[in-house]
Amino acid sequence: MNVFDYFFDIEEYMPKERFARFMDFARGRETPFLVTSLSVVAEKYDALRRCMPYASVYYAVKANPEEQVLRLLSERGSCFDIASVYELDLMLRLGVEPERLSFGNTIKKARDIRYAYEHGVRLFASDSESDVRKLAEYAPHSGVFFRILTDGRGADWPLSRKFGSQPDVVFDNIVLAKSLGLNPRGISFHVGSQQLDVMQWRTPFDTCKDIFGAAEQQGIKLDLLNIGGGFPAHYLRPVEDLSVYAGEITGYIEETFLPASPPGKASPASLPQVIIEPGRYMVGDAGVMVSEIVLISWKERESGIPWLYMDAGKFGGFIETIDECIRYPIYSERTGDANDYVIAGPTCDSMDILYEKNPYRLPSNLQEGDRLFFLSAGAYTQTYSSVFFNGFPPLRSYVIE
Ligand SMILES: *Cc1c(COP(=O)(O)O)cnc(C)c1O
Repeated sequence: MNVFDYFFDIEEYMPKERFARFMDFARGRETPFLVTSLSVVAEKYDALRRCMPYASVYYAVKANPEEQVLRLLSERGSCFDIASVYELDLMLRLGVEPERLSFGNTIKKARDIRYAYEHGVRLFASDSESDVRKLAEYAPHSGVFFRILTDGRGADWPLSRKFGSQPDVVFDNIVLAKSLGLNPRGISFHVGSQQLDVMQWRTPFDTCKDIFGAAEQQGIKLDLLNIGGGFPAHYLRPVEDLSVYAGEITGYIEETFLPASPPGKASPASLPQVIIEPGRYMVGDAGVMVSEIVLISWKERESGIPWLYMDAGKFGGFIETIDECIRYPIYSERTGDANDYVIAGPTCDSMDILYEKNPYRLPSNLQEGDRLFFLSAGAYTQTYSSVFFNGFPPLRSYVIE
């Protein structure tokens, strides 16, 4: 087996002092658990506001619904994208006004639409005729944005196929919504989560423009453009800085919606209201998952690579390692030689393997009982962990400054 030095530069992910604070907090606590840093979330939110000051931020609650995270974003003025009546209840309990919520799930029971409406929600996503009819009945006169299909290309965690509809269906639904007394506001899309290719925002803008134009010919003035989530967290694969995304997307918006005019002279009045729904970007880099090695084993006598079984696996928060899509940076405190390991979780389900096709290079002298630190684990971990599989409790989650 090849021998390499184990090398991991924490500072590629966060300043040393910040990591030290995570380590201090983690010391002596029983693993596995997630620690989310509020100051990182605040930095992310502020950077987004700086890069895209014209956009209204609707944080996708599902990414990390820790109350302190939601409170912090609420205090900073964020709005919220909710997907269920349960997230609605959570936000109302925290005192967030329903005017700052959009019901972004296109799959809704009629009674849940009514519940949301009764509690003041007036902005809904939709992608089907049946849902438009339910909205007209149970959330009369509400604002609706219509989701178009995207193919999820370029995304590490694509959301293609399930949500959205083709432009002609969207157009029909807009006309229908209007005729039923709803307020068709505009278009939404999601280019796929952890989208590494900024260009993927380009195509849907053209589609939006076509639909805006077609609607206008029917006397329907659309004025809302919801460009969804997809902004990346910092995993092993390098990503562009948010400012690169923001710069490109701002350019697309201007090219698409501003009439040709001398550079810098365009009137912002002709731009639609822009909504952005970041989830992963906002909280991903803010979280560190701390997990302990339960067992190290070799499956063959002469060769093969060792297996590391951790106390957190696919059912304990790492569901996004399906197909090894999301590759968390993994840090060990040990130094010296390195070799490859397969990494798996602790449960009795054979799909509970995190990384096998693409093993991880970690210190050769790892011992059972050592801790591994999974960085950038603040998004889609705690909420995805199972409640009792094999009796393991749901992932513990803490918040620090
Ligand atoms: C999950 C979700 C988001 C957040 O996506 P990220 O890729 O995590 O930014 C935004 N909008 C909708 C409708 C979603 O379902």
